[in-house]
Amino acid sequence: MEKYGLSVYNHDMDFSRPDNARIINKLKVLSELRKGECSRAELSRKLGINKVSIGDIIQALVSEGVVTEGKKDTSSPGRPGTLVSINRTGGRVFAFDIRPRSVSVSVSDTIGSILRFERFPRNADVMENIKHAIGKMSAGNDIKIYGSAVVASDDDIDTSSFPQPVITIPRAIAEAEAEIDKSDNLDGFLFLSWSDTFDAAINRGDLIHLPTLAHMKAQKDGICSCGGKGCLEIAASGKTLMERTGAMSVRDLVRNSSYAASIKEALRPIAVALSEAVQATAASGVMITGDLSVLPDSAYAYLQNLLSSLLPPTREIIVYRALSGEKGTREGAAIAALDLFFYKTMLLRKLDSIQNYD
Ligand SMILES: [Zn+2]
Repeated sequence: MEKYGLSVYNHDMDFSRPDNARIINKLKVLSELRKGECSRAELSRKLGINKVSIGDIIQALVSEGVVTEGKKDTSSPGRPGTLVSINRTGGRVFAFDIRPRSVSVSVSDTIGSILRFERFPRNADVMENIKHAIGKMSAGNDIKIYGSAVVASDDDIDTSSFPQPVITIPRAIAEAEAEIDKSDNLDGFLFLSWSDTFDAAINRGDLIHLPTLAHMKAQKDGICSCGGKGCLEIAASGKTLMERTGAMSVRDLVRNSSYAASIKEALRPIAVALSEAVQATAASGVMITGDLSVLPDSAYAYLQNLLSSLLPPTREIIVYRALSGEKGTREGAAIAALDLFFYKTMLLRKLDSIQNYD
């Protein structure tokens, strides 16, 4: 199984290959088309690649079924060319979200839209259920599956029967990917994923995983599973709140107003941990992601007040609610799988930087 990180790309690269420039140009065209449909002339201008080469690349991509020719572009003067776009149905990626009590399987098209999604309780038949869902979601067509991304809360899942290649990514990274895909200007943002457990990441151009944030000291008492005392995890995680309130699931916690007081109580240790983390990482903003991110505005206003009172007056940090809510994990996992196995954005970036040194 491949782990999240740069090292995974190395085996893909053979710099002695003469067609490297061609591969780079092909990937550049794909990543440009990912933003939206485009004519050949526009691609040539935007990417600085001559029109003949662009024509060859498009022809190859069309015959591979990766891009499609669309309508005539009449927006620019002169002889109209056709608009080219990513063939959304040309391939798929799978995303698996493995939680302590539930498992979800989803399949997305090549621009990251979720086509099908299924969630089931995690029981003894979990692998059978997963295999059944994969079968159902890939049945009836011969569409290429580019790979899978797995967000897992433990290592008990055997990913060998998942569509290959497979990458595992941390929950906070997946959820941050989904938000960055939806909004601009999230540079420097600290993402706090709040579901059964906590997880965190920061956006420094690349997303950096911050697994220790969940175990920052956030209150005086409570022994955490890590052995520490007063960790954020033991103070305010969904798991802790379920134990404390008797709620049946994390979703119950946010949907049932009778748990509002317990949620409010949990916001204080969160503010304490965030104030420390924001200072330590010099974050520019905070975004709450995950199942518990769908709290009402009043909860966010309360958390904002707490955080502001804990930070120096000169340090103004806004706390945002994720746009993707409960869908963020699977949306972001699909984006990560597409980045890695279809658009190869990291490979492109690396090859590009090497080419530019020549
Ligand atoms: Zn801990």
